[in-house]
Amino acid sequence: MFFDHIEAAPADPILGLTETFKNDPNPKKINLGVGVYKNEAGVTPILDCVKQAEKLIFETETTKSYLPITGLPEFGRLTRELIFGADSELVDGGRAVTCHCPGGTGALRIGADFIKQQNVAAKMWISDPTWANHYQIATAAGLKFERYPYYDRATHGLAFERMLETLNQAEEGDVVVLHACCHNPTGIDPTVEQWERIADFISEKKLLPFIDFAYQGFGHGIEEDAQGLRIIASRCKEMIIASSYSKNLGLYNERVGALTIVSADKETAARVLSQMKIAVRTAISNPPAHGEKVVTTVLSNNELRALWESELTAMRERIRNMRVLLVEKLKEAGAGDFDFITEQNGMFSFSGLNKDQVEILRKEFSIYIVGSGRICVAGINAENVDALAKAIADVIK
Ligand code: PLP
Repeated sequence: MFFDHIEAAPADPILGLTETFKNDPNPKKINLGVGVYKNEAGVTPILDCVKQAEKLIFETETTKSYLPITGLPEFGRLTRELIFGADSELVDGGRAVTCHCPGGTGALRIGADFIKQQNVAAKMWISDPTWANHYQIATAAGLKFERYPYYDRATHGLAFERMLETLNQAEEGDVVVLHACCHNPTGIDPTVEQWERIADFISEKKLLPFIDFAYQGFGHGIEEDAQGLRIIASRCKEMIIASSYSKNLGLYNERVGALTIVSADKETAARVLSQMKIAVRTAISNPPAHGEKVVTTVLSNNELRALWESELTAMRERIRNMRVLLVEKLKEAGAGDFDFITEQNGMFSFSGLNKDQVEILRKEFSIYIVGSGRICVAGINAENVDALAKAIADVIK
């Protein structure tokens, strides 16, 4: 027997929660577990800019033949423009090379594979907490990882000094994984001054920054959210970026992400690109076309680009408004001061609720939150916020 010894894997905590939510007959149930944007009506919409781009693609597409291994060159250029800014020398200067990967996850994995295959580094430093897949991806790629503290429970803020103290143990050549913005799960990002210190620290210690950029535009804006990454790019000649269009274009199931590697000079970048192609070829051969064409069409067409920016702004502002509303309602319900929720960015908030409280919310109120207390703010709307605030006030009494 070949498969007899295989043990059942533990259920994915977030997907398992969604299953239980689906089976809950309570009509007032609230799902704040899963990390997708929902509009006021509780729907994850297809953006209008995407629908219009799809129409254009269907009218003009003449073949389904393979894309180049790294995707369309225009997709890479537009991605670099978004990440580094239109004026950056990294857009077309030859030092930065990009390949389309299946989602931010694909970009992280192919980036980690590249690090391993090319003996770039042996160890990654990853924030604690983080998006749980980071640890798994590092291990699957054959890299060791260590955790650095990120969250300060007492202040509900960034454990900045402890983070740098721990990273001080990193050895020259190690990789540091950083979330560019909208840290998942805490929603807490470094300030500009802290980014500057992180960038100086990384450059002095000769560490390699690997930036996970899954939420550009969900924090403060497209340019604003790239500030930390751009500060790092101004101090470090080499870096890796895994970016994603899942959230900001709502293309979750189209799997569009990008791996961008910045080298110190053009000649190195050309060699890096040749090896990146091997990493992609080995993992997926070549990328899926539809989502990539949608992204390329939206970003290169002035009208669709403007429409996208307004739709992205609307998503971002809705989430911000829900943060403010939740804090207000929590005060009204007598739950006390939750002002820190309005300081956090992006889709997620570390609410400070503990495991037991999360369980009571699920069992008694049909409110579904991940065990860590992470709330998906995008799941809140004007209709469910009162019930949510009252239930939270009740469980923390
Ligand atoms: N990185 C972080 C921090 C995330 O939260 C996510 C998705 O939730 C990803 C990467 C992966 O995104 P994608 O769906 O594009 O693979």
